[in-house]
Amino acid sequence: MDSKSLKPETLMLSYGYKPELSEGSIKCPIFQTSTFVFKNAEDGKAFFEVAYGLREKEEKEEPGLIYSRINNPDLEILENRLAIWDDADECAVFESGMSAITTTFLEFLNPGDVLLHSCPVYGGTDHFISHFLPRFGIHTVEFKPGESKQQIEERLKASGHAKKLALIFIETPANPTNALIDIEMCREIADSYSKDKQVVVAVDNTYMGPIWQHPLKHGAHFSIYSATKYIGGHSDLIAGAVCGNSEMMKRVRTLRTFLGNMAAPYTGWLLLRSLETLKIRMEKQCENARVVADFLRGHPKVERLYYLGHLDSSSPEYKIYKKQYTAPGAMLSFDIKGGEKEAFRFLNSLNIFKLAVSLGSTESLVQHPYTMTHAGSPPEHNHDIGITDKLVRLSIGVENAEDLVHDIRSALEKV
Ligand SMILES: *Cc1c(COP(=O)(O)O)cnc(C)c1O
Repeated sequence: MDSKSLKPETLMLSYGYKPELSEGSIKCPIFQTSTFVFKNAEDGKAFFEVAYGLREKEEKEEPGLIYSRINNPDLEILENRLAIWDDADECAVFESGMSAITTTFLEFLNPGDVLLHSCPVYGGTDHFISHFLPRFGIHTVEFKPGESKQQIEERLKASGHAKKLALIFIETPANPTNALIDIEMCREIADSYSKDKQVVVAVDNTYMGPIWQHPLKHGAHFSIYSATKYIGGHSDLIAGAVCGNSEMMKRVRTLRTFLGNMAAPYTGWLLLRSLETLKIRMEKQCENARVVADFLRGHPKVERLYYLGHLDSSSPEYKIYKKQYTAPGAMLSFDIKGGEKEAFRFLNSLNIFKLAVSLGSTESLVQHPYTMTHAGSPPEHNHDIGITDKLVRLSIGVENAEDLVHDIRSALEKV
């Protein structure tokens, strides 16, 4: 059977792995090795020619295993499987989501270039953009969800460096407010500024990927992940991934080789295991999130709920939602009536929900973005984008939905 006709969830169990190469082991072993023995010197030469780009790979030629910073079976099989969800040519896995993001930035930005990015973005990404990139003479321009193409282009022009636009980076839905950004519109902006070279569009797809949003289909060049979240899914590892077309991925992979920030074989092995249950986990999480959101809607202690399954069908956001997403996901936030005191009382009264940052795992998590994940941003900036001391963020897990609702109901009663 042609593997291309099989669905991703089926391919996650077998794709790219040949048991006969590993003593018949049904699962891919952990290739806990730094280096690989060449059969002969000619093989070694041939492997390096391909790895260093001295010649193109011949048809049917497999890249030879050389050294675990360059390639390793656990990582290669994982990358081949991850690429399937986004229908990408290639994927590269990293030791963290941050290294996936920063390696992409470093490869596609040069001194004098402009990075256009949405806000809010993940705290670590925000720090890298505002504190690290300027040291290398890279200009950054930010825009907010809801702004039109024209407003964004005006911001670019106002920066005085519009001609040097090199990379557009967006996070949609935005964490923690679930604000949406139109990927197709970003690609149009990128194309209209692409003269000598293509302006690159990269999407942080951690919140909804790789199941409910496929950025490459909407014109993005890269779909980037913190694989620590849904892909890993068990709060037991840190990893990242970048998916895209062969030509651009070659550049990302090459820089990864020289920065040395690839994932370790054991992490790759854990992720292979996680991928087998990715779809059923995420579907259950999504189903649970709807039950929780329906309970929170209209609750007397809830001032406002940020949940994609309740968008007003006449809103501009709903249009983007319909185009870009196949489900409302399993992340939701709400403003509790009151402020930090009420929010903390709620957080401290929960039992099943664990008070921890991160998201996308099997267990449900809760946190207070204003004093936790987003505490590094100036308060005025946070207020501007709806992150206040009233806001609570929930990541819904795979527990029984009624148990989760019971936990939230009891905690809200104590507020
Ligand atoms: C966690 C996260 C990151 C960073 O990933 P790490 O694996 O922690 O390095 C980036 N973007 C988003 C949206 C995240 O949630």
